[in-house]
Amino acid sequence: MSASSPSSSPARIPGSLAPDKYSTERVTWIEAVNDHLFRFRTTRYPGFRFAPGQFARLGVLRDDGDAGPRHVWRAYSIASAAYDDFLEFYSIVVPDGEFTTRLAGLKVGDELLIEKTSYGFLTTDRFPSGEQLWLLSSGTGLAPFMSILQDLTVWTTYRKIVVVHSVRTPDELAYRADIERYARQGGPIPDTPDAIAALSYVPIVTRVPIDGCLQARIPAAIRDGSLETAAGLRLDPGPGRAMLCGNPEMVEDVRAALQARGFAVSRRSHPGNMAIENYW
Ligand code: FAD
Repeated sequence: MSASSPSSSPARIPGSLAPDKYSTERVTWIEAVNDHLFRFRTTRYPGFRFAPGQFARLGVLRDDGDAGPRHVWRAYSIASAAYDDFLEFYSIVVPDGEFTTRLAGLKVGDELLIEKTSYGFLTTDRFPSGEQLWLLSSGTGLAPFMSILQDLTVWTTYRKIVVVHSVRTPDELAYRADIERYARQGGPIPDTPDAIAALSYVPIVTRVPIDGCLQARIPAAIRDGSLETAAGLRLDPGPGRAMLCGNPEMVEDVRAALQARGFAVSRRSHPGNMAIENYW
């Protein structure tokens, strides 16, 4: 039987999904944050829908000689607004990482695979309505909060939004200029209609003292009160809603520190005031 016979199907690349489950997009923009962190944008499949805070699954083709070509997929929080016609992501480069070493080699115009379905529960609709939204992140865990900050609804729902971004060194304070602009103009766009929220930005740099930044891990800054002082707001589980994203150790320690303050993880069967997402 010839290879082009209708009854034979082409061999599928290892790791690949059914072709109708993903689209092939193109990288349109890349910006280095430092030597191991970068932001990038891709075209957006018109049918791709997501809620701010959700993640996509990205795929790259690896072809490392003997092993042959294969697709490698990873979860990535979407950093862009739900209304943008592109998708933005914020990535680390893990030394020897199977996915990120390949991702970091992509150039504008190169192809990237994106599953057509979005995933995840780090979304503000998990909560009963509140007045104060705490967005607590470490490293690239800031990404979903950049999408949430561009959701006009949070600016018309909450009276106070606090963005906490914990990094090791000051060159890892990605998106700082964007967040400071949102704080100045009271929303993601100038004159955001009906916005009532004030935004506090609390950058944390753990390894070196930096003016205007805290130098303590988030759990310690919660326990000693320095986070509340910097934010100008008390962590109060009544009006407060907290979202945690980043490395699992930070997320676990912050969860425990917030539970000690009366916060509870929101579950489908039992709505609470805390939502969490671990990156590995
Ligand atoms: P892996 O083999 O996947 O990871 C190797 C090790 O690298 C991990 O065990 C961990 O120690 C470390 N590592 C992995 N990811 C990170 C990270 N982001 N920061 C610091 N250390 C890390 N990564 C992003 O860069 N940006 C995102 O927006 C993002 N969103 C995610 C959303 C979800 C829901 C999940 C589960 C993960 C997310 N990740 C994100 C992590 C991402 O899926 C990959 O793990 C990462 O791209 C590294 O892939 P890799 O194959 O190179 O290394």
